[in-house]
Amino acid sequence: MNTSSNVDSAEIEKFSQLAHRWWDKDSEFKPLHAINPIRLDWIKSHAPVSDKTLLDIGCGGGILSESLARSGAQVTGIDLSVKALKIAKLHALEAGVKNLEYVEISAEDLATQKPGTFDIVTCMEMLEHVPDPALVVQACARLTKPGGWVFMSTINRNVQSFLMAIVGAEYVLNMLPKGTHEYAKFIRPSELLGFCNSAGLEEVDLKGLHFNPLSQRYWLSQTTPVNYFLALQKRPA
Ligand code: SAH
Repeated sequence: MNTSSNVDSAEIEKFSQLAHRWWDKDSEFKPLHAINPIRLDWIKSHAPVSDKTLLDIGCGGGILSESLARSGAQVTGIDLSVKALKIAKLHALEAGVKNLEYVEISAEDLATQKPGTFDIVTCMEMLEHVPDPALVVQACARLTKPGGWVFMSTINRNVQSFLMAIVGAEYVLNMLPKGTHEYAKFIRPSELLGFCNSAGLEEVDLKGLHFNPLSQRYWLSQTTPVNYFLALQKRPA
């Protein structure tokens, strides 16, 4: 597949339609707001972000990008949803966060323009929305400096993830709009680790993100049945 075609325009449109509600903590984006402190702490537990150059791929309205910038990183957020980027820019402007820029470009194109540029690359809740996630993983690796960090998250593919992430979240609990996720695009940790290994990224940490709908609590553990986080380092040159 040609890298510039590694985008599903229906997916981008889905996020664009909802973009105006991105910073509403009671909207479709409530889960992203709820998990943000957990993923931010997890990233910082591996790599100090202060004064580091950081690229956030598939940044959307900027929930993660802005929190990383507030933690002192020099952040570039990229996405292909113009509407989401507009919301992200506006929010950063209103919040007075300056060490943060947003650009409309694909990870693959930026990797061609700026290889080996970033100390840290994050790509969270995005890989399950692209036609060929292996190409995005390759771009993550290319964009990272040797020895630098890559943090990813996505959704496992099995009966439990189908029941929790699609049936539960979209149909029973109405946490996400119906059609947010497509089962066939979920990625097993073993598959993602295969893509990473081929791209020159070495696993440092793999954690599962768990949710209790009764307490509305999220937490990390060693098991990865549904959502999971993967921390990697690029092999030194
Ligand atoms: N990473 C953010 C947003 C996740 S929502 C967070 O976790 O808070 C998924 C985002 O991926 C949306 O903003 C969508 O526009 C973006 N996206 C989907 N396919 C993409 C692609 N091929 N290239 C860049 N961004 C993409």
